[in-house]
Amino acid sequence: MHEAAMMRGAVQEALGRMPADGTRITRVVLVLGASGHFTEDVARQHFALNALATPAECAELEIEWLPATYSCFACLHTFASVLPPETVTCPACGGVALEIGHADVCYIREIEVEGAHVASEYTVAAPLHISGKHS
Ligand SMILES: [Zn+2]
Repeated sequence: MHEAAMMRGAVQEALGRMPADGTRITRVVLVLGASGHFTEDVARQHFALNALATPAECAELEIEWLPATYSCFACLHTFASVLPPETVTCPACGGVALEIGHADVCYIREIEVEGAHVASEYTVAAPLHISGKHS
């Protein structure tokens, strides 16, 4: 399952970013493309499943959605939205909108670690894109 593989990669990425002297990850900021692959509930379930019995087990998960692009069937208005695709309607006319593009990404933007002497917070300068292909 593509979503499961993406989230497994994201959890592994977070664990890999943890400093050697860190004891556990307290907070994870995850960036997800709003593509319809994930709902917030599904993303949280996969994260919890993959983080089980790891230092990230009790991490607070914060999700940032990258908007997908939509085009309206009725008036051809193009717009971006982070809402679930099935609930997206055209902001101009209220018509049915079709998704025409999205960023299929899933990556860790930031983690906070407890017990590390070097840095308690790590911010990824250049986000590392994780896709199912790598795992
Ligand atoms: Zn419209």
